Amino acid sequence: MAEHPSPHWDVVVVGGGNAALCAALSAAESGARVLMLESAPEPWRGGNSVHTRNIRCMHEAPEDVLTGAYTEEEFWQDLLQVTAGKTNEALARQVVRASAQCRTWMRRHGVHFQPSLSGTLHLSRTNAFFMGGGKALVNAYYRSAARLGVTVLYEHVVDRLEWSEGRMVAVHAGSQRHPCASVVLACGGFESNIDWQREAWGQNAWGEWTADNFRIRGTRYNMGTMLAHLMEAGADTVGDPTQAHCVAVDARAPLYDGGIATRVDCVSLGIMVNQDAQRFDDEGKDFWPKRYAVWGRLVAAQRGQIGYAIIDAKARGRFMPAVFAPEQADSLEELALRLNLSAQALTRTVSDYNAACRVGTFDHAVLDDCHTEGLTPPKTHWARPLDTPPYFGYRLCPGITFTYLGLQVDAQAAVSMQGRPAHNLFAAGEIMAGNVLGQGYTAGVGMTIGTVFGCIAGTQAARAARSSA
Ligand SMILES: Cc1cc2nc3c(=O)[nH]c(=O)nc-3n(C[C@H](O)[C@H](O)[C@H](O)COP(=O)(O)OP(=O)(O)OC[C@H]3O[C@@H](n4cnc5c(N)ncnc54)[C@H](O)[C@@H]3O)c2cc1C
Repeated sequence: MAEHPSPHWDVVVVGGGNAALCAALSAAESGARVLMLESAPEPWRGGNSVHTRNIRCMHEAPEDVLTGAYTEEEFWQDLLQVTAGKTNEALARQVVRASAQCRTWMRRHGVHFQPSLSGTLHLSRTNAFFMGGGKALVNAYYRSAARLGVTVLYEHVVDRLEWSEGRMVAVHAGSQRHPCASVVLACGGFESNIDWQREAWGQNAWGEWTADNFRIRGTRYNMGTMLAHLMEAGADTVGDPTQAHCVAVDARAPLYDGGIATRVDCVSLGIMVNQDAQRFDDEGKDFWPKRYAVWGRLVAAQRGQIGYAIIDAKARGRFMPAVFAPEQADSLEELALRLNLSAQALTRTVSDYNAACRVGTFDHAVLDDCHTEGLTPPKTHWARPLDTPPYFGYRLCPGITFTYLGLQVDAQAAVSMQGRPAHNLFAAGEIMAGNVLGQGYTAGVGMTIGTVFGCIAGTQAARAARSSA
């Protein structure tokens, strides 16, 4: 019996997380017939987006769940600072400006917001939290997509695009061919692909494969299949394969999907040491939202890719509790023993640190005046002696959130192919986040980039489909 030919879609969206859903919803709102192909089975749909909690938004005055004002300039300066200038200013400002409106659109599709959670993240002014977290957001979008007639196929790993005369004409998932007028790639980075990570990070000075001790904080399905395919097909890329959002997570975290619960947020309240019990960076340089994504990389550079966060009783209750309990001891010697560190080296490091602390008025909510003097590396804020038992220690390893190597896009989210924007191929979310994030991170901007560019990509893909009809 002859097989039925696949229908001809206006827009095929590759992926099943936030960026894909924003693209699918926007394309459907523009009147397009939309197919979404998600590689994960339905219970695991939604990619890294299910793990999220908030989105960073500019606003000129207090809004429902956002305090104060967070202007375009301040948001842009934050991005400029964390990326050390490795960002495309035009695209970054486009994201920042559009972030002012995106919550109205999100609400229309069933997303609810709540005030920021307490803890070390200092986010009440800048970030709006999703009621029920990212899982609730993703589920709301899937419901809205169903209402708008979007077709979703799960367990469909898209592995190539088909081109004809410079235009993309179909999407292939294994043996299936889906003809279409335009495509949005919103299928994440390559963070889940351990072989690619290994190749990118290579071996360190101790002969270790740096990526061997990585944990992938989110989905196992972001294998970078389409990123690799597009790179082979001549797409222009941005970013470097070792740049990623990379935080320090509890070393007991699972290889995939440990999520937010394995992150350890106490670093700025104590000290961080390596296997030799030596400090290696300023734990109090800036607020945690601008620094938490630095520590994974710093730990990755240490022998064994392991770090140890050490705090005392004064830090208890001041940070979001992690899912795993820390090692606890009544003396630093005993704590060192439990963490397999040299007791002599750890007590020496702590006594040098304690002696260097100049304690003013401790306030974890501001860049306070508690700092060290004459210590290398310094601790610039929140420096208080570790002198109050019990002491606590967490073993931490690098936790990759998402990679920054991505497809170069323009303001319409069109993928750049050898210097020219593709007619009918668009990208959104992690797969193009490197245009804005060349390095570093500030909390909540992943969802901002995915939401803003997802909506642009969906609208533009629908327009491209109309103009080709
Ligand atoms: C633990 C954790 C917490 C986070 N918290 C926040 C936060 O609070 N705020 C914030 O802004 N960001 C946060 N992030 C980052 C955020 O998750 C990402 O920036 C954002 O979700 C990216 O959305 P996306 O749609 O591009 O990717 P994803 O949500 O990862 O979606 C990619 C999708 O593509 C699918 N896919 C992959 N390859 C293929 C293929 N070949 N064919 C078909 N489908 C494919 C995957 O199955 C997946 O559904 C967090 C990430 C993690 C892991």
